[in-house]
Amino acid sequence: MGAPGKPLLLWGAFGLLFLLPGCQRVEERPALVQRGWVMGTSYLVKVTHLPGGVDPAEVRRSVAMALAEVDRNMSTYLVDSEVSRFNQSRSTDWFPVSKGLATVVAAALEIGRKTGGAYDITVAPLVNLWGFGPEGRRGEPPPSKEIEHVRRRVGYRKLSVWLDPPALRKEIPELQIDLSSIAKGYGVDRAAQALERFGIQDYLIEVGGEVRTRGERPGGGPWRVAIERPHRRGGIAEIVPLSGLAIATSGDYRNYFEKGGRRYSHTIDPRTGRPVQHHLTSVSVLHREAMWADGWATALMVLGEEEGFKLAERETLPALLMVKTPKGVRRLATSAWKALFTKGTGSMDRIYGTSGRRSPGGRFTKAE
Ligand code: FAD
Repeated sequence: MGAPGKPLLLWGAFGLLFLLPGCQRVEERPALVQRGWVMGTSYLVKVTHLPGGVDPAEVRRSVAMALAEVDRNMSTYLVDSEVSRFNQSRSTDWFPVSKGLATVVAAALEIGRKTGGAYDITVAPLVNLWGFGPEGRRGEPPPSKEIEHVRRRVGYRKLSVWLDPPALRKEIPELQIDLSSIAKGYGVDRAAQALERFGIQDYLIEVGGEVRTRGERPGGGPWRVAIERPHRRGGIAEIVPLSGLAIATSGDYRNYFEKGGRRYSHTIDPRTGRPVQHHLTSVSVLHREAMWADGWATALMVLGEEEGFKLAERETLPALLMVKTPKGVRRLATSAWKALFTKGTGSMDRIYGTSGRRSPGGRFTKAE
């Protein structure tokens, strides 16, 4: 246990840490803690209070099933998942899918449009070519000719989605999708829905670094989530108090290889066919839903510090960008991020509206 009063650091999988008061008194102990492994990464659920008569085993089963379903449908690491079956299919007819998969693809295409194709879930063949997909690592850049050849198979405009009945359609037989940038966030949202079906109102859920919070942490007050310093040796860059918000972080300092003094990370710019080469090293995005926070964090990571910051401002996204400079890491917070954490601005409503209806693009605007 941490020293009395000293926060106890609980490592998230990517970019985020959870701070718990050190040496927890009884009232500071969560009523339910659940850990597990899904989508190739760890997950953690903490529930502050359990409503009377709720069976913790039932809650755990429901959360695990919600996450497993997302894994089964959206993994490119499972050969028989819905996404893998769609990727293996050469048909250009409508391909029926689950409502969840259609929902995630619709969100991803919306972010794709808003980023001019920088964020693009059809980037799967390039992710695999660079060794960051299920086909395993390569540790050195592929030949330029191969990159150009594979890049022709990529393009979010070659993919269509229908929500009801839910179906996908590829314009070219060899199109393939990769939802690693957004489906973990969707899994967090599904796990949150599972908890709320039991009347649970105070919880933190984390899957592979994507976090969603609601209500109070044990002992009272908002959940406190630390954002990792974007460095191999880790450490804390920022601690944010969250309640009723999700946070996702993308970065270039965990999943990469180095060759010839250059770093090649798993964030690929479909416009070049290569891993991004800018100075943005980490970006955290807040949203009511973890799926949108997750997708937008990767999107801003692809765009880089200038284009990314401008788009985040245009979209009123609360985002914190960390930029590598010769003197260390520079912190760039959007006005929506600052508004959320400046005291007394009623900021949650200011940004997300009271009953926060989702406008196109996942943004929340004041309820009309
Ligand atoms: P994020 O920034 O959230 O996403 C980066 C990922 O997005 C890249 O790895 C790439 O896949 C993709 N991407 C890159 N460039 C772009 C772009 N321009 N536009 C859109 N997307 C882009 N990993 C395993 O090792 N084993 C598993 O069994 C496994 N199963 C999974 C199952 C599911 C359903 C999902 C969603 C992921 C799974 N993963 C698995 C991958 C792993 O969980 C992470 O999703 C992955 O490492 C990226 O998450 P991140 O938060 O690190 O980075």
